[in-house]
Amino acid sequence: MEVKVMKNILGENDKIADENRKLFAEKNITVINLMGSPGSGKTSLLEKILSKLAEKIKVAVIEGDLFTAKDAERIERQNISVVQINTAGGCHLDAAMVRRAAESLNLDELNLIIVENVGNLVCPAEFDVGENFKAVVLSITEGDDKPLKYPLIFKESAITLLNKIDLLPYTNFNLQNARADLTTIHPNIKIFETSCTNGAGLDDFCDWILKEVTK
Ligand code: MG
Ligand code: ZN
Repeated sequence: MEVKVMKNILGENDKIADENRKLFAEKNITVINLMGSPGSGKTSLLEKILSKLAEKIKVAVIEGDLFTAKDAERIERQNISVVQINTAGGCHLDAAMVRRAAESLNLDELNLIIVENVGNLVCPAEFDVGENFKAVVLSITEGDDKPLKYPLIFKESAITLLNKIDLLPYTNFNLQNARADLTTIHPNIKIFETSCTNGAGLDDFCDWILKEVTK
């Protein structure tokens, strides 16, 4: 019974996600669904890359958060258009939420929308929001066992950002094992090693995004 309910929910969501994708394609907008645990560094990464991206393209952010507008306020300080979605405790964004948020953006002016999903490695992976790519942030301090523990999100994501890479020497995170597990789960996954502290990998990540946007 519960499985059937879940199938219906996901079926309805997929329909709206496809409509979103069609709308974004018509407007020539690339959409990235950025996922990861709370504290993995999603908002900090955005703070670091948005100004670089904004030099070349028009970018907006949709911020999913359980209750507060703290992350949206951080993005707004960078003079980037941002729409806040409060899920009021909901643990993921769905396609209808992203649709409503996108309606308050000027889609004719944008090249890229980055959606920061609710911090969670589980259900955000199940809900298509109409993005072109999913990207997952896994920080070094979370441990190298996470890809095997939460395989779906890594399987669904085109990109994994191994974030806080500067902390590697202070942890027992095994980079080689993590990379091997990621590639086993998703052979074509693109892996970036990033740090918001020393800036590692951020230019490469921006270049990848710019290449996709201007394709
Ligand atoms: Mg955040
Ligand atoms: Zn959820």
